[in-house]
Amino acid sequence: MSDIAPRPPATPEGVHPFPHRHLTGIQGLQPWEIMFLLDEAEQWIALNRGSAQARHDHRLAGLTQINAFFENSTRTLLSFEIAGKRLGADVVNMAVAQSSVKKGETLIDTAVTLNAMHADVIVIRHEASGAVDLIADKVDCPVLNAGDGRHEHPTQALLDALTIRRRKGRIEGLTVAICGDVLHSRVARSNILSLTALNAQVRVVGPPTLIPAAIDRMGVSVHTDFDEGIAGADVVMMLRLQRERMAGGYVPSPREYHALYGLTPDRLKQAAPDALVMHPGPMNRGVEIDSVVADDPDRSAITEQVEMGVAVRMACLDVLTRTRRGVEGWA
Ligand code: ASP
Repeated sequence: MSDIAPRPPATPEGVHPFPHRHLTGIQGLQPWEIMFLLDEAEQWIALNRGSAQARHDHRLAGLTQINAFFENSTRTLLSFEIAGKRLGADVVNMAVAQSSVKKGETLIDTAVTLNAMHADVIVIRHEASGAVDLIADKVDCPVLNAGDGRHEHPTQALLDALTIRRRKGRIEGLTVAICGDVLHSRVARSNILSLTALNAQVRVVGPPTLIPAAIDRMGVSVHTDFDEGIAGADVVMMLRLQRERMAGGYVPSPREYHALYGLTPDRLKQAAPDALVMHPGPMNRGVEIDSVVADDPDRSAITEQVEMGVAVRMACLDVLTRTRRGVEGWA
C-alpha cells in the first residue's frame, strides 16, 4: 500500500490544496502535491486528443502569459505556448535575441520590466541555476521554471512521472535507471526528487566524470557500469550528453561514449523485459541512444513524453493562476 499521505482538503481559512505561489522546482513539493498536479493533468490529455473545436478551454481568458526563454528550447517553449493558448491565455514569447538582455540588462532589471507589464504568469528558462528563483522573488505573479542551468526542470519531471504512471500503472516500487550525463542535467535532478518522493527506486548510471559528487545523498544508488545499472530496471531514462555545458574533456569521444554508455537493443536486454525507454529530448541519436530503440513504439515512450508535456503544463498554468483568478477555495 502507498505510504504517500493523501491530499488534505482546502481548509475554511482558505489554505488551498496547492499552497505554492510559484513552481520553481520539485524541491519543496510534498509527494501528494506532485500527485495532485499529475491528477490535474489527466483531464487535459483527452481534451488535447479531441477535435480542433474541442481542444479549447477558456479558463485563462484575459490573462497574459509571458514566456521568457533565455536559453534555447523546442519542446518546452512550444508546449508552454500551446498549453497557454489551449486555456485561452494571451501568450507572448519574449524574443531574447532581440531583447535588452543582449545589451547587458541585469536579470533583476529584466524581472522588474516583466513585472511592469502586468503579466499574470511568467514562464522562464535561463542558463544560470537559481535565476528563476531570483526573478520569482521580484515579481507579483506566479513564475514557472522551464529549466534553470543544472538546477531543476520541474515540468519535465512531472511529465515524465505522468508518462510512467500511465504506461506502468504506478510509480511506487518501480526501479528507474537515469543514465548518462547526470552531472549537467536538471532533468535528472528534478526526476530524482520527484521519483524518490513517489517511492520509486532510483539508480543513476554513467561515467564517473558525469556523476555529481555525493549524489547518493539524494537517495539514489550510483552505478558506473551501464549493464549493471540497468539490470532488471522497469524504466531506462536516457539523458542527452550536454556538450554545451562541458568546458573540458568529460568524455573521450562521442564514439567511445556510445560504446560504453549508449543504449542499444542488445544492452536493453539487461533491463526488465517490458522496460520503458525514455529521453527528454533533444536526442543525440547514435551517441546516448540508438534510433532502433528510440523509435520502437513498444518500448519507447519518447513521443508520449512530448504529448504529456502539454497536459502537464496546462495543469500547472491552471493551478498556479487559480488564486489570481479568484477560483473558490484558492483565494
Ligand atoms: N530539454 C531538456 C532540458 O532543457 C534536456 C536537454 O536539454 O538535454 O534540460
